[in-house]
Amino acid sequence: MNTENKKLVRPHVYQFNFGDSIITNMLEGHVTRDDLHPFVATNATADDVQQLAKRYKIPYPKLEHSFVTTLIQTPDALIAFDPGFGENAPMPSAGFFNASLGTAGFSVDDIDMVVISHCHPDHIGNLMTGGKPTFPNAQIVFGRTEFDYWKRGENISDMRKHTLSLFEKVALPLIDKIRFIEPDESIVSGLTAVNAFGHSAGHLAFHYESKGQELLMLNDTVAHYLASFANPDWHFSMDDDPDMAATTRRRVLDMAATSGIPVIGFHLPFPAIGFVEKNTDSFEFRPASYQFNV
Ligand SMILES: [Zn+2]
Repeated sequence: MNTENKKLVRPHVYQFNFGDSIITNMLEGHVTRDDLHPFVATNATADDVQQLAKRYKIPYPKLEHSFVTTLIQTPDALIAFDPGFGENAPMPSAGFFNASLGTAGFSVDDIDMVVISHCHPDHIGNLMTGGKPTFPNAQIVFGRTEFDYWKRGENISDMRKHTLSLFEKVALPLIDKIRFIEPDESIVSGLTAVNAFGHSAGHLAFHYESKGQELLMLNDTVAHYLASFANPDWHFSMDDDPDMAATTRRRVLDMAATSGIPVIGFHLPFPAIGFVEKNTDSFEFRPASYQFNV
């Protein structure tokens, strides 16, 4: 057998019960890069990042950057969070949200609500397919600050010019279907937006509570499961306001560590769920094993 060209199978759907809900994390894609530094730490030296990689036995400078989307099926609604790049994936190894939905037992027509944390391409690209809404029956939910920032489209950095044009292509045309929310606002019963501004102008985290179980969706508050936790002040190259993002990262990770509730992160290694431990001046990500299966 030619083992060089075989397309490898990897897990891409992880489902578990949570309170009265079912949560599904889906690997919508991943990309292999060769720039761990400066990708996850523009304000650190290459040597610092290489030392971290060595300590935790991950490669350097190669890395895998994952895109993990979440569905929450409540008794009342099927909610999709940041449904990935979709057809706008810039790499062949991403764009699999719609295909994976079937494996999870759903279809695009079943989605009642799509909640967007922020407007970067990996989070909004799949809102439209072939010029039409991908999720025809869904209400779309955006943070007001985030949407208005991109709608104004002023002082956009060169790095984000593509993000702006994608926003104008896949988000702006949906404006009449959009419900706008503010931090601390309840989206549906048990689901609340959390201010996590910094990674983008109005980036949101989400808190979900069901029958006494709680979790925090960090979204892009963290970029890398080691770097962003061990050195929360390191600037992620994709942070639009790196200083604000670092302050937010500390506040949100502190919240997760203090409460001890599980976290899900869009760019954490699949299935992208675990816990946050606080050390003196840093944090640690403890990936979940079977906590949600028993
Ligand atoms: Zn992202």
